[in-house]
Amino acid sequence: MGLFPKLSTDLAIDLGTANVVIYVKGRGIVLNEPSVIAIKKKTGEVVAVGNEAKKMLGRNPNSIETVRPLKDGKISNAKKTEEMLRHFIKLAHSKRMLIQPRIIISIATDITDAERQIVERAGKTAGAREVHLVEEPLAAAIGAGLPIDEAGGSMIVDIGGGTTEVGLISLSETVASYSGVVGGDKMNEAIMHYIKTKKNLQIGENRAEQIKIELGTAVKTEEVREAQIKGFDTVSRLPKTITINSDEILDALKKTVNEIIDSIIKVLDDAPPELAGDIAERGIMITGGGSLLKGIDKVIRDRTGVPVSTADDPLLSVVRGAGMILEEIDRYKK
Ligand code: ADP
Ligand code: MG
Repeated sequence: MGLFPKLSTDLAIDLGTANVVIYVKGRGIVLNEPSVIAIKKKTGEVVAVGNEAKKMLGRNPNSIETVRPLKDGKISNAKKTEEMLRHFIKLAHSKRMLIQPRIIISIATDITDAERQIVERAGKTAGAREVHLVEEPLAAAIGAGLPIDEAGGSMIVDIGGGTTEVGLISLSETVASYSGVVGGDKMNEAIMHYIKTKKNLQIGENRAEQIKIELGTAVKTEEVREAQIKGFDTVSRLPKTITINSDEILDALKKTVNEIIDSIIKVLDDAPPELAGDIAERGIMITGGGSLLKGIDKVIRDRTGVPVSTADDPLLSVVRGAGMILEEIDRYKK
């Protein structure tokens, strides 16, 4: 050992549709920010990324464009994705010298080759020596502590912002998977739509998300909770405050929750009988921010007849799994 221990700059990145989370080898999670970038329309100059940019969503001046470049699980804008990722990588390294890190990036299972290349290029232009891509359900399963190297099947369901990724894993490989374009964003949209049509109130995306986190539920609860919400009257266009309760949000979210369960059933239906049997016995592990919706485990269990458990820290399963792969990269390279 020399006087100065070699500083690791190897990274594991969860490139999510709603949040980017970065883990540095030997140090842990160093960054967790929304996947949002704000850009000056005229010059293309980056004005803000992450939390700062998310605050601007729906309230930015005309000269600034606020984008979620991965919103529906597809990379809708290559340049902005690249720019956002590069920016986050720089932030994660703070003032450390770049000694050409290795980077592991977790990506959706149904990503196209062109999209893979965009992600790889972003890593490389950020200074990476090697960029490895890992399938997100596999990273989520490892991070959630599922016994993925056993021959028995494990099912992981990652309910994110733009997508719900369902993976059936056996012997450390994804045997079957499905990525449905449904998740937390659709819940927010459903709440916006409900409040607009039933309450004549126009609200923004961020407000809808707040209401979801505060009152959201997938099951009828004994105690009905309520909250005030500010918006614009759809008729008079004047500011207005209304009260909304958890029963109403339950109603608003029903359809979206059912679509999420449809994605799970698709994979269960197509599973080889042996593995389907394993899942019936061992159950489904749910993770991702959407798994925090109250009672969603119960409705999934009711419709599928399979036991359901929720990962600890669902917002961090993927990055933890990717981090574990990074720590043992030589073993996992296979
Ligand atoms: P992604 O992997 O696509 O980036 P995440 O796993 O980070 O997504 O989850 C983000 C989603 O989880 C957002 O839609 C957010 O609103 C939602 N979310 C976060 N906390 C909660 C909560 N307590 N209840 C319901 N949804 C939540
Ligand atoms: Mg995710």
